Amino acid sequence: MTGSVVIRHGHEIVDDRIVYDETPLSWDEADQKAGRRLDRRMSWAFINNELCKSISYTIRCSGCSECPGEDRGMGCSECGYHGVVRQSCWVEA
Ligand SMILES: [Zn+2]
Repeated sequence: MTGSVVIRHGHEIVDDRIVYDETPLSWDEADQKAGRRLDRRMSWAFINNELCKSISYTIRCSGCSECPGEDRGMGCSECGYHGVVRQSCWVEA
């Protein structure tokens, strides 16, 4: 996977969806702003001037699993019948 860097300026709600106002950064600009060389394989963002990186993980599908202790659900159209879904979020780097 190839990484990327963006600066998030804010967000607005359009048709009940969150739309982020982001500007892509070049790696050189991002390295300078971060004060170090960023890993080109990762996705990075500056959110409220904090350097954040994207982490992704697999979690059981909420559409077809019933018990919190289950590793995966039975499979449904929401998860493509895998019982699990990939999710990602930003964490402070
Ligand atoms: Zn499912």
